[in-house]
Amino acid sequence: MDLAWSADDAAFRDEVVAFLDEKLTPELRQAGRLMTSVYSDHEASMEWQRILHERGWAAPAWPVEHGGCDWSLTQHYIFSRESVLAGAPSLSPMGIRMVAHAIVAFGTPEQKDFFLPRILTGEVFFCQGYSEPEAGSDLASLSMAAVDDGDDLVCTGSKIWTTHATEANWMFCLVRTSKTGKKQEGITFLLIDMNTPGIEIRPLVMSSGEEVQNQVFFDEVRVPKSNVIGTIDDGWTVAKYLLLFERGGGAAAPALQVMAESIAEAAAQQPGPGGRPLLEDPVFAAKLAEARIRTKVLEVLEYRTLSAGVDVGGAASSTMKVLGTELSQRLTEIWLETAGPRGRVYQPHATAPGGPIADFVEPDGGYVSGESWQAVAPLRYLNDRAGSIYAGSNEIQRNILAKAALGL
Ligand SMILES: Cc1cc2nc3c(=O)[nH]c(=O)nc-3n(C[C@H](O)[C@H](O)[C@H](O)COP(=O)(O)OP(=O)(O)OC[C@H]3O[C@@H](n4cnc5c(N)ncnc54)[C@H](O)[C@@H]3O)c2cc1C
Repeated sequence: MDLAWSADDAAFRDEVVAFLDEKLTPELRQAGRLMTSVYSDHEASMEWQRILHERGWAAPAWPVEHGGCDWSLTQHYIFSRESVLAGAPSLSPMGIRMVAHAIVAFGTPEQKDFFLPRILTGEVFFCQGYSEPEAGSDLASLSMAAVDDGDDLVCTGSKIWTTHATEANWMFCLVRTSKTGKKQEGITFLLIDMNTPGIEIRPLVMSSGEEVQNQVFFDEVRVPKSNVIGTIDDGWTVAKYLLLFERGGGAAAPALQVMAESIAEAAAQQPGPGGRPLLEDPVFAAKLAEARIRTKVLEVLEYRTLSAGVDVGGAASSTMKVLGTELSQRLTEIWLETAGPRGRVYQPHATAPGGPIADFVEPDGGYVSGESWQAVAPLRYLNDRAGSIYAGSNEIQRNILAKAALGL
C-alpha cells in the first residue's frame, strides 16, 4: 500500500483546493461546518449543487455521457476529502448518489433523458420511500400495495422515516405488486411524482426537535407504469443494487477529522477542572486522543480500500458504515462535553439545521447563549444517535460482515 499521492493526484488535489477556495463563500462554509446532522441546510446545499454543476462536478461518480467525471477512485476520494476539509455543505444523497445509479443501470432511454439532467440541476429532488412502519431491517416484508389498473399502478399504504419528503418533488419507492412467491418477489421499484393527488405528508419530530423525517400516506395514488424502473415484480433487484450506493463510496474519515480538530481547538479555550484549559485535563485529553487515533485508523482503512481498487458494496462498505457512525457518535459525545453547560441549552434558533424547524419564532434579538458551535452540539449529538440505525442498522451490517468476512 502506497499512502503518498502520485504527482497527477497531487496536481488534481491542487485544482480541487483552488476551486473550493474560490467558490465556497463564508455562508456556504458556515452551512457545511455547523451541520446539525449529516444533512446541510437545504438552501445552502442546493446552492452548492448549482455551483458544482456549473463546473461539471455535481455528480462525479456518474458515467461521463450523463454528466459524470472520468476520475479514478483516488480522485473521487480526494474530491470528497477536500470538500469536507474546506467546509463545503453536503449534497442530498437520494438523487445524485442513489436513485440516479438505478436509473442509469435499469432505466429506459426516456427515463434517463427526463430524470438525469433534472437531478443534476436540482429541478428534480428525490426522497427515498423504502421503509414502512412494519418493514425496516426486514425490508422485503413491505406491504404498500400497487394495484394494476390499465396504464397505471394504484398505490395505497404508507412509508415512514422519509427524509426530506417535504422538500422532494419525486420519491423513489418500493411497492408490492404481487403477494405470491417469496417476499422478495412481487416488489416493484416505482418513481412517484409527489404532487399526485392522494399523497399526504406528516413530519416526524426527532429528539433534536428537527423535522427532517416524515411519514407519507398514499390513498389510491395513480402512478403511470412508465414510471417503473426495471420490470414489474422485479424491483428487489433494483433495490439491492441501489443499497450498495447508499452504504458505500463515501469518505467518512475527513469529516470526523474536521470534527476532532474543531473539538481540540475549542477545548483549548474552554475552562476545565481547576480552571486550566479543558484540553489539558488528562482524562479529557485521553478520550479525545483515543477518538483521533480511531479516526486515523478509519482513514488508513479508507486508503487501503482505495489502493485495493474496491469501490462500493460488500464487506468493505459494511465495515466503514459501522466504524464511521460509531466514531461519529463518540465524537459528538466529546463535543457535547466540550461545549459545557451552554451546550446543554436547547436553542435551535442559533443554528441552520438540516431542515427548518416548523413554527419556530425567533426570540427578540435572537439571543444565543454561548457560541454557535455550542448551540449546535446538542442537536448534532441527538441526531447522530440515528447514524447506527439508518442505511441498514449496524446490527444488520455486523450480520453481513459475519457472513461475508468471517464465513459464519
Ligand atoms: C434519521 C433517519 C432517517 C431515515 N431516512 C430514511 C429514508 O429517507 N427513507 C427510508 O426508506 N428509510 C429511512 N430511514 C429508516 C431506516 O432505514 C430504518 O430505520 C432502518 O432500516 C431500521 O428499521 P426499523 O427502524 O424498522 O427498525 P427494526 O428493523 O424494527 O429494528 C429494530 C432493532 O432490531 C435490530 N434488528 C432487526 N433485525 C435484526 C437482525 N436480523 N439481527 C440483529 N438485529 C436486528 C435493529 O438493528 C434495531 O436495533 C431512516 C431512519 C432514520 C433513523
